Amino acid sequence: MTAMDALFAVQDEDIIRGQLDYRRTHLSERQDVVTAEVERDETTTAIAGLELERLEHSRRQNRLEGEVVAIEARLAELDKKLYGSAITSAREATSLQDEIGHLRRRQDDLEGSVLELMEVLEPMEQELARLADQATAGDAAIHAAQTSLAEAEAAVDGELYESASRRELALPQVPADVLTRYEGSRASFGSSTVVRFSGSDCSGCPYSMPAVEADRVRSLTAGTLADCSECGRLVVR
Ligand SMILES: [Zn+2]
Repeated sequence: MTAMDALFAVQDEDIIRGQLDYRRTHLSERQDVVTAEVERDETTTAIAGLELERLEHSRRQNRLEGEVVAIEARLAELDKKLYGSAITSAREATSLQDEIGHLRRRQDDLEGSVLELMEVLEPMEQELARLADQATAGDAAIHAAQTSLAEAEAAVDGELYESASRRELALPQVPADVLTRYEGSRASFGSSTVVRFSGSDCSGCPYSMPAVEADRVRSLTAGTLADCSECGRLVVR
């Protein structure tokens, strides 16, 4: 391999590395992981919202049931009083009966409300169970997507390693000063940093070389490195 062939080989591998880096960054598997994570987050949010709603209903149910218990205690107390010997007048008995009637109606209302709440809570529990299954499936989907991504990355990494090995082989055959010029121009010219002399022009730029400059390059020994006076690329005679 001549020095210039080695320089082109280095450039080829730099181009390949750039393409592989791009491919690695833009793997569709990477987007699949993001999509799976977003879906999983949506499930988490849905669960949190529904659990909060369930908590509010449960608290309300507890409050109502607590009130029912208190009413039952009060009713037992009033019954005892009504059928005991403590009553001194018919008026007092009527008053007790009124209170008992009022408490029983209140108890019925409360029990009706508790039943209604239980009817709301039941589908909520079912939906939470469904969401829990969805969360489990979501976790599995993230794991599967991460595995696919790791495999795809490993495949690209393998190609990157092979490219780097080929570059390593070519590198010692490129003279140090040539390599320095190449590396220094790469930021500006990328994949066409070093180009071949077409016979009359630099093949890297759209401009025509002035005739006198083209004559000068043409007169060089094949394999000599020159600069394009128009664009500044490295031109191999
Ligand atoms: Zn040029």
